[in-house]
Amino acid sequence: MYFIANWKMFGDLTTLNSLDKVIKFSKNIKKNKIKLIYCPPSTLIRPLSKRLKKTKIEVGAQNCHYSYDTGAYTGQVNTRMLKSVGAKYVIIGHSENRQLGDNDKLINLKIRSATRAGLKVIFCIGETLEQKKNKKTNYVLANQIKNGLKSIKNKSNIIVAYEPVWSIGSGLIPKSDELIKSIAYIKSKLGNKFIKILYGGSVNSNNVDKLKIITGIDGFLIGGASQNSNKFIDIIKKTIN
Ligand code: PEP
Repeated sequence: MYFIANWKMFGDLTTLNSLDKVIKFSKNIKKNKIKLIYCPPSTLIRPLSKRLKKTKIEVGAQNCHYSYDTGAYTGQVNTRMLKSVGAKYVIIGHSENRQLGDNDKLINLKIRSATRAGLKVIFCIGETLEQKKNKKTNYVLANQIKNGLKSIKNKSNIIVAYEPVWSIGSGLIPKSDELIKSIAYIKSKLGNKFIKILYGGSVNSNNVDKLKIITGIDGFLIGGASQNSNKFIDIIKKTIN
């Protein structure tokens, strides 16, 4: 099972001390039982990867620029730069970045750049509340998959995170039967049974029992609750026990 922490725009150097608990906890988990990945703000990728060097915990970035080459892109960081400071993964297509202008075309370019740089991609997809109300969920998911993964032949470095936009940070999660259907639909559209599918959106230690039994879910992308080590550990414990 994957547990990916998305810290969003939270955290500074002192926050890294709070990870000691998680490091200790991870040492007692059987090898290969879980994959633990932290995606902090870019400012923390280097210090965090240094700190996690002797652990099984890996580091990812939350976004990247689409250009594989360096260039005049003020404020941007490309995939090779992220890799050079210790990132092994990158989140692409998060709804918070789609809201800021990331469209399917840009997302596709970012994914190409990331796979070329040797990063694993956590590719986020999901419908808005309005799209859900209009029964457009499958249509939206199919398009995001088709356009986002266009011309990506080798999908071995892709992990898909299904994150309904209305669920992120809201405390709401989909009904189990809806989630089962969406996960199965995503799997059918990916056309590759080996691609891991995660769920993300308000995962916490109270709802994870319901979520972990959903067929086809290979782990969780966790925002808010991952910023607190105790809460994060509780989610992992409840999932694997
Ligand atoms: C996220 O940011 O990807 C996310 C799922 O956030 P939260 O867990 O806070 O809903």
